[in-house]
Amino acid sequence: MSLDRAEIEDARAAASALDASDPLRSCRDLFVGTQTPLVYFDGNSLGRPLRATADALGSFVRDDWGGRLIRGWDEQWMDLPFTLGDQLGRAALGAAAGQTVIGDSTTVLLYKLLRAAFDHVHGQDPRRVEIVVDRDNFPTDRFLVEGIARERGGRLRWIDTPLDGGVTASDLSSAVTDQTAIVLLSHVAYRSGHMADAAALTAIAHDAGALIVWDLCHSAGSVPVHADAWNLDLAVGCTYKYLNGGPGSPAFAYVAARLQDALAQPIQGWMGAADVFAMGPSYLPGRGMRRFLSGTPPITGMLALRDTLPLLERVGITAVRAKSIALTSFAVRLSDTWLAPLGVTLASPRDAAARGGHVTLSHPAMREVTARLWQRDVIPDYREPGGLRIGLSPLSTSFAEVADGMAAVADVLHAIS
Ligand SMILES: *Cc1c(COP(=O)(O)O)cnc(C)c1O
Repeated sequence: MSLDRAEIEDARAAASALDASDPLRSCRDLFVGTQTPLVYFDGNSLGRPLRATADALGSFVRDDWGGRLIRGWDEQWMDLPFTLGDQLGRAALGAAAGQTVIGDSTTVLLYKLLRAAFDHVHGQDPRRVEIVVDRDNFPTDRFLVEGIARERGGRLRWIDTPLDGGVTASDLSSAVTDQTAIVLLSHVAYRSGHMADAAALTAIAHDAGALIVWDLCHSAGSVPVHADAWNLDLAVGCTYKYLNGGPGSPAFAYVAARLQDALAQPIQGWMGAADVFAMGPSYLPGRGMRRFLSGTPPITGMLALRDTLPLLERVGITAVRAKSIALTSFAVRLSDTWLAPLGVTLASPRDAAARGGHVTLSHPAMREVTARLWQRDVIPDYREPGGLRIGLSPLSTSFAEVADGMAAVADVLHAIS
């Protein structure tokens, strides 16, 4: 038995009404590929490109790179990591200028900031050796602190979380002690989509005398972050997910102004030095965010952000979040009616206020379901154990797309069960 036609038509009608009243609906047309029937449920892993970016990349190669050649560094590229960082801070992070920079990968930037933070706290109080992290954090995050603990004589303290949730205030309160050096958490959990109370958790870390590093990969461009108002210390995130930077586009780092000059990151390169072209005998760290850079900035990788950040600034992260909640709520509603009877459970918070921009649907057959959906041009992703991740990038996803995609999930599940 599969979905009957009337059920699908009802969902399509509901989707049409939602699309018609969506203030962001015209944004979808700005993206490459949205005119086709393909359903994209993975904008939280790799955002779609803007059409404007296709033209901008071509003209960059011809005019900027090809025409200006090395003069381009002085004319515009040297400043780009900082100007784009400031713009990102404004558009999506609630960060005043001078605290955000673009560069490296998320993994490398996280390493640099975690090491800097650990060394700072441990250096002031050698009894502080613990790094608090949750067991369900993204692999790169867990692997990094494992390595840093080994390298610096630290120790890990794990927080266990439920598969459909994330770290709460009481979890963190019972994990921090007078031996905590740093805490590493994801704001929006990559698997469940659980959104942590970053302000409250930051205050708990601070009260314990620790610094906290936030992974904002699934937050930036999807949910509002108020880095300054929440009193965050350090944060890192991707630009290729909800910020549509393109495959492997560089990460961003936020370091609160009050900490910048006190921190020393471990990859001392010439681009982080006080006077980049002095070619001096030894390293003297730059001031402000410069010291968190290491080598030549990956300019070609950050070009798409020149198109996506102004769009985000124009529509506003508040409107993005409102649509995001409407999209995930619609997907949850369809899952409840179509998929729950087939044994699918929601592995994300049911309360929209407690989740980010994706929902995870759990069923033992989801790996197979994902493979079959990809063949039909319906593209979610799969995360162990048994999780079908539905990532709904607010600027490029329509409600009709959600209805069609969820109907396809139901169809495939019916076919194989
Ligand atoms: C996507 C993601 C990363 C990716 O790190 P890269 O260095 O870009 O591969 C890291 N952390 C989280 C939580 C992520 O979701």
